[in-house]
Amino acid sequence: LVDIRNVHKSFHGTEVLRGVDLTVQPGEVVALLGPSGSGKSTLLRTINHLETVDAGSVTVDGEFIGYELRHGKLHELREREILQRRTQVGIVFQNFHLFPHLTAIENVIEAPIALKRLSKSDALELARGLLDRVGLAHKADAYPRQLSGGQQQRVAIARALALQPKVLLFDEPTSALDPELVGEVLDVIRDLAKLGTTLVIVTHEIGFAREVADRVVFLDDGRVIEQGSPDEVLSRPRHPRTREFLAKVL
Ligand code: ATP
Ligand code: MG
Repeated sequence: LVDIRNVHKSFHGTEVLRGVDLTVQPGEVVALLGPSGSGKSTLLRTINHLETVDAGSVTVDGEFIGYELRHGKLHELREREILQRRTQVGIVFQNFHLFPHLTAIENVIEAPIALKRLSKSDALELARGLLDRVGLAHKADAYPRQLSGGQQQRVAIARALALQPKVLLFDEPTSALDPELVGEVLDVIRDLAKLGTTLVIVTHEIGFAREVADRVVFLDDGRVIEQGSPDEVLSRPRHPRTREFLAKVL
């Protein structure tokens, strides 16, 4: 479903992604681990074209999010078309990124109305269902500042789901939360995994990765240096860098 091939990316002459290959099958849950600065966020952002790539390619369901192929060459699409294609990829960030001036339900209906041309009543119905699914039906009219971090993150998940993306990306979704709020967000992600949603999750919650991931991918210094089942990578890591990392976080 997601096909990342030989992706390279530099910032100001420093190569941050150094030839990354990664494929994600439909319904698969992939946990992406790696030290700080290894390129996890950058890689995730290339999937929905929040970051362009210098070389290589990224496709979702066979389609480039930011480019089209014309006469055998890739041309970057216009912003409007990129936004349309981006609806196929949901993303949830560490710091929620909710619109502060909109209520929970307004946050959820915004994109389906703007990008999918849903009527307001259809969007509201969809949003109520999604808020219910993340356990927040009773908070539909609350503003982000009136919600706890865990509640805000659950609204952000409902908002990402509102576009019915083919794949949902999480970038350390619980690392900005107080410890007692981590569980409620992980519960929602666990439910999505059970429903067969395709997920790519950057996380430092090793126990959670072991439990929900079909595959663990370890990124180091801009390269995938090890991947396999959670048991293979987390219990019997082969690469010294993976062992070193796990020794620090476990
Ligand atoms: P962390 O675990 O700390 O979130 P990460 O694995 O997500 O780390 P990235 O955020 O992808 O790492 O960053 C990889 C490298 O790229 C870092 O050295 C970072 O400073 C650099 N980098 C990322 N985004 C930019 C940018 N927009 N401009 C310049 N450098 C950047
Ligand atoms: Mg990061």
